[in-house]
Amino acid sequence: MNDGTRAELITLAPDGTLAVPERPVIPFIEGDGIGRDIWPATCQVVEAAVGRAYGGRKEIVWKELPVGEKGFEQTGQWLPQQALEEMERHVVSIKGPLTTPVGQGMRSLNVAIRQKLDLYACVRPVRYIDHVPSPLRHPEKIDMVVFRENTEDLYAGIEWEAGSAEAEKVRAFLAEQMGRHLPETTGIGIKPISKANTERLVARAIAYALENDLPSVTLMHKGNIMKFTEGAFRNWGYQVARERFGDRTVTEEQLHAEYGGRRPDGKVVIKDRIADMLFQQVLLRPDEFSVIATPNLNGDYISDALAAQVGGLGMAPGANMGDRCAVFEATHGTAPKYAGRDKVNPSSLILSAAMMLDYMGWNEAARLIRAALQATVRDAVVTYDLARQIDGARQVSCSRFAAEIAGRMG
Ligand code: NAP
Repeated sequence: MNDGTRAELITLAPDGTLAVPERPVIPFIEGDGIGRDIWPATCQVVEAAVGRAYGGRKEIVWKELPVGEKGFEQTGQWLPQQALEEMERHVVSIKGPLTTPVGQGMRSLNVAIRQKLDLYACVRPVRYIDHVPSPLRHPEKIDMVVFRENTEDLYAGIEWEAGSAEAEKVRAFLAEQMGRHLPETTGIGIKPISKANTERLVARAIAYALENDLPSVTLMHKGNIMKFTEGAFRNWGYQVARERFGDRTVTEEQLHAEYGGRRPDGKVVIKDRIADMLFQQVLLRPDEFSVIATPNLNGDYISDALAAQVGGLGMAPGANMGDRCAVFEATHGTAPKYAGRDKVNPSSLILSAAMMLDYMGWNEAARLIRAALQATVRDAVVTYDLARQIDGARQVSCSRFAAEIAGRMG
């Protein structure tokens, strides 16, 4: 049992080096809705994997943070400041889905966590797990990681309702100062994309590709239309590749002009694709793409579309990462109609936990989780969402699915 004794903090040095003790304290947010189903399932799988991989030498000491409905019940706040401080202090944490409280002046708790902790990169690996039903003929060709900018673009939330005093003020400013006339009933949103935030996101994506010996980083943008936001993202992306990683990257142009189309060993190819075209190409030629770096809204769309190709949101892991801390999370929402029914698929949170273990350097435990999950699906022992797509599947509850995974770690 976790009792908190001899537990220690994970630390992150300014150069980005993570130091993980053998009994790290890891805060978790259970989450609202189906959080109460998928969190205990995840916990069971992680503890089984860590136990099996390290034979008691290593152990996670969980620390619950009351956020969301639990936070509101216990502290009167949906997102207590103390919870944010704990996430930052402990460097690594994990969360279930959170309801967006309607009419509480907060657009989304998830967006608030990302912005307050400056978790600027939303990292979503999309990898096919054998035997998971997919609409593609060759889903095994999908092996991508999306780096979505998390703090700006249309998600910055700078917008005004049509007819509001603010919208009228902006409309008048645009007419009087900029000569741009908008109809009276116009709602207005601002799309900020900055050089500094683009650079840190793209640099992180390139560093990831280099560390993991991946072939390419694709800058996904709509710069043909939005030249000074999405187009600038593309240009700044190439610039940071050239200036910070010049000796370890080549552009697609150079690849053909100087290397006969063959990627030189140890170098990452930097390319770019217009967003709509990329949606086509990831369906038709998925093996041409590896890491994708993109502004916020494109990233939102492409990561869900890619998740659908490898089993849907119930199977898609994710993490929000910054320079001070990282928060791993289920990528789906609270699915309120299934809350407390022990029914949904816990794989998104389980695979996010595996990603967290990899981040901590506990790769053996992460590998055990992925292999056991794959073996469970291969045996067609699955939750309702996959059962409805697999002929002859044995449908099990959320908790049973977790037990089946834990039981396949031998
Ligand atoms: P949702 O909670 O993701 O659920 C939509 C549908 O997706 C479910 O009805 C279910 O489809 C399927 N689904 C989701 N999770 C699943 C799982 N683990 N296993 C199997 N199927 C799963 O989206 P929503 O209903 O639009 O949002 C509900 C609330 O969640 C909102 O308050 C929203 O703000 C919040 N939200 C939070 C996050 C987050 O915390 N990161 C993300 C998105 C939304 P079927 O009914 O077809 O089986």
